[in-house]
Parts: sequence; C-alpha cells; structure tokens
Amino acid sequence: MTTPLPLSSWAQNISPSPTLAVDAKAKAMTAAGEDVCGFAAGEPDFDTPEHIKAACVAALKEGKTKYAPTPGIMPLREAIVGQYAEDYGYKINPNQVVVSPGGKFSCYLGILAVCSPGDEVIIPAPYWVSYPEMVKLAGATPKYVLCDDTTEFKLTPAQLTAAITPKTRMLVICNPSNPTGVVYTRAEMAALVEVAVQHNLYILSDEMYERLIYDDAKPTCIATLSAEAEARTIVVAGFSKTYAMTGWRIGTTVAPAPIAKAITEMQSQMSSNVTTFAQYGALAALMEKDKTRAAVALMLTAFDRRRKFLHAELNKISGIICLRSQGAFYLFPNISSFGLKAADFCTRLLETEKVAAVPGSAFGAEGYLRLSYATSDDIIARGVERLARFCATL
Ligand code: PLP
Repeated sequence: MTTPLPLSSWAQNISPSPTLAVDAKAKAMTAAGEDVCGFAAGEPDFDTPEHIKAACVAALKEGKTKYAPTPGIMPLREAIVGQYAEDYGYKINPNQVVVSPGGKFSCYLGILAVCSPGDEVIIPAPYWVSYPEMVKLAGATPKYVLCDDTTEFKLTPAQLTAAITPKTRMLVICNPSNPTGVVYTRAEMAALVEVAVQHNLYILSDEMYERLIYDDAKPTCIATLSAEAEARTIVVAGFSKTYAMTGWRIGTTVAPAPIAKAITEMQSQMSSNVTTFAQYGALAALMEKDKTRAAVALMLTAFDRRRKFLHAELNKISGIICLRSQGAFYLFPNISSFGLKAADFCTRLLETEKVAAVPGSAFGAEGYLRLSYATSDDIIARGVERLARFCATL
C-alpha cells in the first residue's frame, strides 16, 4: 500500500462542523428506525413558503438558467436595498450588496476581504461554530473572549477592550446569537462599536437571525449606529432561517462599496453567482410582502410558543438553569452542576434516551448544551421529558 500524500495545512487544521455532525448522527439513527428527538439542527422545520417556491419554479421554466452577475441579479439587490431602508431606515446602494451561496460563505468572504495572515480576530464565546475555522482559513488567529450566563452571554466593552492587541483587526458579533439566542440592546451594541471605533477595528456583524425575535426585543443593524460604524461594518444576513430556505443557499452581505467589490471579486473566482433561478425565489420573498409577512408570522408564533414551553420545562429539571433568550431558535441551558463534560453528557443522552443536543464546548463554552426549538411541539415535549429522566439518573 502506498503512503498517502499529505493534505494541505488548511485541510489538516480544519475542524468539521460539530452541529452538522450531531445532526447527521441523529438523522442516521432515525433512518435506521430509532425514535430520536433531535434538538441539534439549526434549521426551521417548516417548508419554504409556496409563493417563494412558485417564483423559483416560474423562473426555471422561463429559462433563468444561465450565469448571472456575480453579486446577484439587480432586481434582488435592489429589493435588498429597499428592505434595509424599510427595516432600519438604512440607505445603501446596490453596489454595497453581494448575494452569496449561503450566509456561511458571506461570513467567510467578509473575513477574507479584510483579514490577512498574522491578524487577530476577536470572537466572543459562546460563538457560532464556523467563525474560528473561517478565521483560520484566512490565515488569521481567532482570539476568544468567554462570556457566560452571568452577563447573559453578552460581550462587555471592558472585556472587548482587554482583548484588543496591536494585531487585532476585526470583531465578530452575532446578534441575535447562535448559540445562545441572546439579543443585545441598541445601547449595548453602541457601546461595543465605540470601542471598535477607538481601536479602528472592522466588525463582522452576523445578523442572520434579525427577524427571529420575541417579546419586546429589537434587532440592531450595527451599520446604522453611526457613520463610523457604517464605515467599518460588514453586515451578513440571508434567507435561510427567516424564510425556511436553508437548502437554497442564499446569503447577503452589505458593506462599504470597496469591501463589497473585493468580496464580489473573490466570489467571482470561487463560486460565481448564487443559482440564478433560486435568486428569483428570494426576490419573491422580498417583493410579495403580504404573503411573506403572513408566512413568517406563522413560523414566529410557533417558535415563540416552543421557546416558552422548552424554557419553562428546562428550568423545572433539577440541576439545569436556562436563561430566557429572545432571539433565533436556540436555548443554551447550563448543565455544569452535573459534573460531566458537555460532550459526554450529549453522547450519553443520545445513547440512552435518543435525544440529540449539541455540547456547549462545540461553541467554545463548556458546561452548556445548545437546544434548537426549530422542531415540532411533539418532539420538544417528548425530548424534554427524556432529558429530565436522563438528568434524574446523574
Ligand atoms: N450565521 C449564523 C449565526 C448561523 O447560525 C448560520 C447558519 O447556521 C449562518 C450564519 C449561515 O447560514 P446559511 O445557511 O445561509 O449559510
């Protein structure tokens, strides 16, 4: 047998997505006939609204099957411009908008556009699993700042200031947060931006869950906080979560024009445009407003009901403490009182009770679990009952 030739240093250093891995394991168990309650997937359990699918199918039938402009078809970029104006009073031009194959790729290109080898990127933990790997793939170094439930998992200006070095290039912030569901207030965000401005940092603002928000919480588009904020912020959002379009792969970036141009040029060499007819589906999501609003409202009502139920049930379990979060579709309960590593807790939970959850350690925070409530009421009810039974054995 010949010795395999070595892989690149990039390939050797990459960690595969732990959330996708847990979800894949749960799906394989389900396919094998096991009754798994899955809380792992960061994916709405709803189907894409009909009018969005219909617009995509019509575009496909009309022959919208060719290459399109790399940063997206102009009507879609114009609709995104219109949406930012409507939502946040934020006035931008289409040349500041790039439509990419998924918000994940938008984040990666945003990092690649401004970070070079040797740069440091501050990532508050718990973080979305992909940021550290993206930073490493850009040759830069992730610097983690642990924020626990004593500060509602929120980065404070003092923590940010303490983490900055002469090499710091960027702050990554995710609001509403995956994995904690926490939502920063506008004032809290403004205080962080002030520090970023003082130290001349870029900000990657991941606003993927901007519309999945509950109670009286409000989304903040960081670029709207001030002219200085706008000049340094790369805003990422997309269609995956809000419109149940995860498989469509459509993410969006809004950035100062030179950064958007750099992102477009990199995308032109890496992937080209997002699937052309899929972009017409996304266009319908933004243009057929009444239908979209109604569909999103239905999903939000379900998410909110599940959030309240799951939160209440978790806190009834002796040994678990769970913050009531106000965004996305995740809860991040503290399980440290059981004295188990989160990964061991999750493995045993899956093996004994067939409940799939992702360990907090995957998000840089030991002692927690991430539970997604973007799954049916029935699975949530049965899953949390099994979790309680499991905890009682520890
Ligand atoms: N940002 C956050 C915080 C996410 O949770 C996700 C998806 O899990 C993404 C970005 C990427 O979304 P997409 O499916 O559009 O690539």
